[in-house]
Amino acid sequence: MLFDERPKENKGDLFDREKEIEEIMNNINRPLILITGVRRIGKTSILKVVLNELKIPHFIIDCRNLPPNYSKGNLYSLFSNAISSKLSTFLEILSKIRGISILGNSIELKWKGKEYVTLSDLFDHLNEKRIIIGIDEAQKLRGPLSKEIKDSIAHAYDYDRNLTFILTGSEVGLLHEFLGIENSESPLYGRYYHEITLERFDKDKSELFLRKGFEELRLNVDENVIHGIIEMFDGIPGWLALAGNQFSNNRDLKRVKNIAINVALNEINNLIEMKNNVSPVVARRYRTVMRCIARGTNSWSKIVNCIQKEEGSTISTSVLDNILNNLKKLSIIDENYEFLDPIYKEASIL
Ligand code: ADP
Repeated sequence: MLFDERPKENKGDLFDREKEIEEIMNNINRPLILITGVRRIGKTSILKVVLNELKIPHFIIDCRNLPPNYSKGNLYSLFSNAISSKLSTFLEILSKIRGISILGNSIELKWKGKEYVTLSDLFDHLNEKRIIIGIDEAQKLRGPLSKEIKDSIAHAYDYDRNLTFILTGSEVGLLHEFLGIENSESPLYGRYYHEITLERFDKDKSELFLRKGFEELRLNVDENVIHGIIEMFDGIPGWLALAGNQFSNNRDLKRVKNIAINVALNEINNLIEMKNNVSPVVARRYRTVMRCIARGTNSWSKIVNCIQKEEGSTISTSVLDNILNNLKKLSIIDENYEFLDPIYKEASIL
């Protein structure tokens, strides 16, 4: 069902994206592939569909709920959970690795004590077979263990020719910063990666998506509703799916919009607080900057003036610079001080 709000897993459930899937398939033998784009654009869905289509053994590390200062235990649990979900595929390899215990239907990767397994060891063993390792929302791996993770991916890049890593990221600036391909101090410095950036659907595709979705639900929906949804959600498939789903329940476009705005507000709060570990004062500053931009303030000097008016105090160049850079790295705004997501914009005006 198109309006199912979970990531799609089968090609038949995915709307469009043939070109992007083909591009990933054509590059599948490269060591490192990135799928980037704003939240809800369909990265996880495409990753899952590609992996299902390829029929190459794989697992996906889901970093979406990783806390900002995650521990080694957190990280190893992610790997344990991901591999456990494909246990039968990897059982033979896993049984040869010291530092992994197999307990019924799940495995535990040990990260401390007498016997433990490093990620590089794990990758070297997995390299026995052709395997694809997906890492969803990989920018969340930034933090105290990022050097260790990048060292292990760089090691696999050089020595484990059977492994391909596919990383997705919604906070595109942070993902690039995490990998540090252009940073001479990063273990991944200078390595080639193939990046596929997912774009939003144009008006025609959005319309087709919505019509098809409503048709699946056997709902006859007025033209105005279809166009209203397209106007509001600007071709981002995840918002279109949410809108279609909500509208089919409540038949009230205004309510649909409010629901989406509340979802976005929650996400914005999490992004600002998680990214920066910020104090309430700094979080308020982020919100003021976002409110100014959401109202159409689109130059440095206008933003400075707007903040002065809103807060009654001036903002230093370095603080504003830092906030704007972070909003760009989080893929909330672009270089021209425009919101990338129309609902994030609406939520920021409030
Ligand atoms: P991302 O990983 O970029 O945040 P997801 O893959 O989780 O995006 O997709 C967000 C929502 O949009 C999900 O409900 C998913 O089912 C839907 N979706 C995204 N792209 C498509 C598509 N091409 N066809 C059908 N549904 C899609």
